Amino acid sequence: MQTALSVEEARARILAAIHPVGPEQLCLDAACGRVLTREVCALQPSPPFTNSAMDGYAFRWDEVSPGCELPVQGTQLAGPAEPQTLLPGHARKVMTGAPVPAGADTVVRREDTEERPESVVLQVLPSAGRGANVRYKGESFAAGEVLLAAGTRLNAAAISLAASQGCAVLHVRRAPRVAVISTGDELVELGNQPGFGQIINSSAHAVASLIRQAGGSARILPIAPDQAAGCRDIFLSAVEDADMLVSLGGVSMGDADIVRDVVAELAGGRVDFWKVRIKPGKPLAFGEVGAPSGRRAVFFGLPGNPLSSIVTFYQFVRPALLKAQGLTELLLPRLTARLLAPARGPRGRRAYLVGRLAWQAGEAVFRPHTDQSSGGLLAAAHSNALGIVEEGVGSLEAGQEISVESLPLAT
Ligand code: AMP
Ligand code: MG
Repeated sequence: MQTALSVEEARARILAAIHPVGPEQLCLDAACGRVLTREVCALQPSPPFTNSAMDGYAFRWDEVSPGCELPVQGTQLAGPAEPQTLLPGHARKVMTGAPVPAGADTVVRREDTEERPESVVLQVLPSAGRGANVRYKGESFAAGEVLLAAGTRLNAAAISLAASQGCAVLHVRRAPRVAVISTGDELVELGNQPGFGQIINSSAHAVASLIRQAGGSARILPIAPDQAAGCRDIFLSAVEDADMLVSLGGVSMGDADIVRDVVAELAGGRVDFWKVRIKPGKPLAFGEVGAPSGRRAVFFGLPGNPLSSIVTFYQFVRPALLKAQGLTELLLPRLTARLLAPARGPRGRRAYLVGRLAWQAGEAVFRPHTDQSSGGLLAAAHSNALGIVEEGVGSLEAGQEISVESLPLAT
């Protein structure tokens, strides 16, 4: 009989078996959320030319005093322009983003001036002094600087930064391909009417959503039956086109729990461990699946209970998916919160309780839901965090501190 691993032991063994997937080139607009495999460097300085940060008038700081009147040397809108030099003792009207003429060093806001037909009165000078409201060429970065290092996960600002340098194509890690297989003779596909004794295959849709949210590409395969031959066929069809295979259900102690045997019998299939001291989710298998073609994929056998599959996904599959994309921050962010209601855990297993994390008077507070049953989804559907009751703690009372992992916002 295998001894059950702690969450950390199980996760360490999983992560040791995960390697980054290969690179691909993507057009910029498809790359948000992906991880760079090549750095992005500045092709030009930023800003590329000295320009105004305000609608106003450009002038020489040394030539003015509050209330002075300057003749206006034309208007410059943002757009293509001939470079200009400011005449001595003049001001040039400039709009936001327009080039500031050579010689000018400061811009006064239009609302701090009195505009006359040929001249402008500088009623209030900018309090920031010389250089106010001017964005100098190269003040953000110089040409050649590394803007985004390899390993950076691209957010919207990073996409914009790359676009500003004319990068239309980015080198990123491809999305790990994950096959999702639900097992169980009681399951029917979404869209069918379950008969007596049947339920809809709901967990596959949760797990596919979580895979996509973690940067993977998910493919839901047909439901595998609780008979070895049919189950094996579905597993084999999955291996050909997957980096990872996540099965749901069939890894516990029941008469129909055949998944571990099916995996072990596949060419090169292996189950490394299948018990973890976690609630919900104790039966959790990890290993490798193989096909006669020689193709191999990492194997996760998650429990089928809807809440168990979600909690174990967050603890084990998500970190693996992030590592496969070349990331190094793999765990959910943790913080300490004050409990608003008692939290109970089982003996000898770490409990993850679904609940709501919020802020009250500047303090993080966590309220575990009253229903923590592993088959229940109603509570999880209204949760934004997992509260942790360590093995050996048993229970925490309202008012005590609890470690909480905040769940990523759905995208
Ligand atoms: P198992 O791990 O196969 O013993 O399943 C545990 C419980 O989860 C049983 O009540 C199953 O009916 C249920 N279950 C298993 N797989 C799924 C699924 N894909 N969607 C919804 N419920 C499931
Ligand atoms: Mg089952």
